[in-house]
Amino acid sequence: MQQEALQTLKRVYGYDSFRKGQSDIIDGLLTGKDTLAILPTGGGKSICYQIPAMLLPGTSIIVSPLISLMKDQVDALNRLGVPAAFLNSSLDAAAYREVVRQTSQGAYKLLYVAPERLDSGMFESLSSQMHIPLIAIDEAHCVSQWGHDFRPSYRQLAGWIGRLENRPPVAAFTATATPEVSEDIAAMLGLHDPNIFVTGFARTNLTLSVVTGTDKRKFLRDFVQQRPDQSGIVYTATRKEAEEVCDDLSRLGIAVGKYHGGLNDDDRADAQERFRFDENRVMVATNAFGMGIDKPNVRYVIHWQMPGDVESYYQEAGRAGRDGEESECVLLFEPQDVQVQRFLIDRGTGDPDRKTIQLNKLYTMMHYSRTEKCLLQYIVRYFGEADVPECGKCSNCMDVSAMVDVTEDARKALSCVGRLKGRFGISMAAKVLKGSREKRILEFGFDRLSTYGLMRQWTERDISDLMYFLVAEGYLRISEGEYPTVSLTAEALPVLEGSIQVKRRQSAAAKRRESAGSALPAANAPLFEALREWRRETAAREKVPPFMLFFDAALREIADRQPVNSEQLLAVKGIGAAKVSKYGHDVIAIVRQFKQDGAQGSRNANGDGGSEERNGADGQTDDYPASAPGASGRSSEAELPGQSGAASPSGGEDLARLDGLSSHMQTLTLFAEGRTLAEIASLRGMSRVTIENHLLRCGEEGEELPWSDFIPPQHEALIVETIARVGAEKLKPIKEALPEDVDYFAIKAAIVKHRLSTAGE
Ligand SMILES: [Zn+2]
Repeated sequence: MQQEALQTLKRVYGYDSFRKGQSDIIDGLLTGKDTLAILPTGGGKSICYQIPAMLLPGTSIIVSPLISLMKDQVDALNRLGVPAAFLNSSLDAAAYREVVRQTSQGAYKLLYVAPERLDSGMFESLSSQMHIPLIAIDEAHCVSQWGHDFRPSYRQLAGWIGRLENRPPVAAFTATATPEVSEDIAAMLGLHDPNIFVTGFARTNLTLSVVTGTDKRKFLRDFVQQRPDQSGIVYTATRKEAEEVCDDLSRLGIAVGKYHGGLNDDDRADAQERFRFDENRVMVATNAFGMGIDKPNVRYVIHWQMPGDVESYYQEAGRAGRDGEESECVLLFEPQDVQVQRFLIDRGTGDPDRKTIQLNKLYTMMHYSRTEKCLLQYIVRYFGEADVPECGKCSNCMDVSAMVDVTEDARKALSCVGRLKGRFGISMAAKVLKGSREKRILEFGFDRLSTYGLMRQWTERDISDLMYFLVAEGYLRISEGEYPTVSLTAEALPVLEGSIQVKRRQSAAAKRRESAGSALPAANAPLFEALREWRRETAAREKVPPFMLFFDAALREIADRQPVNSEQLLAVKGIGAAKVSKYGHDVIAIVRQFKQDGAQGSRNANGDGGSEERNGADGQTDDYPASAPGASGRSSEAELPGQSGAASPSGGEDLARLDGLSSHMQTLTLFAEGRTLAEIASLRGMSRVTIENHLLRCGEEGEELPWSDFIPPQHEALIVETIARVGAEKLKPIKEALPEDVDYFAIKAAIVKHRLSTAGE
């Protein structure tokens, strides 16, 4: 048999040898074994059932859901001289009848059938007249609701196979299945003790990278421009992003096309053809693009955002390098992508079980973005293929920064998680380690745990980050469900016992420390203040909160880098083209002036000069009368670090202990101690709006906040949708489009939580 298969391979396809796994699968099928084969796209899947179909007497049936792929395969087989046909909804009645007639006479070696057709009486009677030596089921993961692409029509397959008089061997093929989905496929299709093959997931010609914390626009421009002769795909999460990214590249004179569900059929077909024929070298697309596209010379695939699961990511990324040549796959990851995806799942219409599955897939994808181990190994293991060596060239394998011993920190985190007994999530564990005085913590008595406050000097975000790292490394596990909890795995025990060490890349640890500390070298502080003053004035004029112009982090970076033209300004994180065109002139003028004047750029460093209550200007004070009579009316932005401790406490409470913290952090500290916003406003002699803005600023800087206290959960989706519709530039139109009981604070909180002010640039 082996020899015949090899001869057929050579004669029909022109190859001299089988790829890994192919000949074992073919052997099994020729000897009548049921088979479950998990081979990635481009792994030579179709040869595995086409060759047995050619060698066995009768007509093999291939079940496939992809109409365009069926046609392509049948055309290709016919060109190779193999009689084959398909039955699906694209045929008119006459053509359909003709295929049925020819089939009943045994004219074909392979008949491709859409799953919906199998259940018809016509097909039942046809199959009773046929000699069927093999049934191959393509895209078999569609039968499992644990997969990422469940199709109810696949559920009829087992019934139809069961009704056949002589049941032939059944072969299920899929490009994407976790071990869990594999088991489900075998059960749902009623496979008899199948041979199982998992192979070929390691696409060694792909170089995988995860890029975090970069200016995505600049990264993409540079990447594409540095590869002027190469063809590539950029995947975006939304149509809007696809349009924007495409426009951006097109302005650089790059031959770029776009493809998404909002375009009409002609435009999509046109874009696809131009890309296929290399008239456009870059395609910017949503995940609507790619099914059934076989363009072998795609040299790179860039993901503008993290997709919702590893299956989708690897399938899309795997469209690079189908010709086996070296190719690159880059995932641009920002932590807020997780929130966006999670929000989409929460809001989706799926039933609760389905949502749970989607959430788990999302977390696995997130761990890919955060792991510090070989990326290719991570994916290959996810699909259940063991024993694949490190790739040696992904962004993690190439990270030469030293590994540092973080065993002590890991033990603190693990032991805290252990004490919470798997009943709480990562954010609660982080709060306990931080020593938070939040009400919930005190109510549960967690301040009496021995791990309480063990990592007081860390930020909550850094603690969470460490825990996500421990999840990615397999020491912690996150549960399924809407409110995922965290617990220890068996692998955590040796760490707690001190018998193994935990190592982490220095770069990861250092980067986190860097982002946590926001101190600015003294030399640039005057420029920073000048920029803040300009922002304060401009924001007041435009009646928006200052962070909607630029975040502090962006101003800090401007003060640091001192850009003197638009291009340099664009390189600053969080500043897009829209901001540059609107404010670039002003900002660059301030920087230039500063450079000329030297230290004299520190204009009016005494913030007390701003006597006007800024928040009064945007019409919001009516919602919240300042709760303290005699509130000074000073806004947060008017205070300079170091002076804020001087705010006269009206409650007589000792606030001196907060000295040294910036003003907004003082507010957060009081809030974390369980005080209400009104109490803090009164205590600090500030308006409630100012206190709210303090908290939002903390949110911008990455502090964990109880968002559901600020944003009514029942309105959250509506608020986000409304902001997406009318834009985040002005608050009033948003407020007016929402129910009465949604206040300005809820809107501003939603903008910060979902990072909507920068997303729309
Ligand atoms: Zn690697």
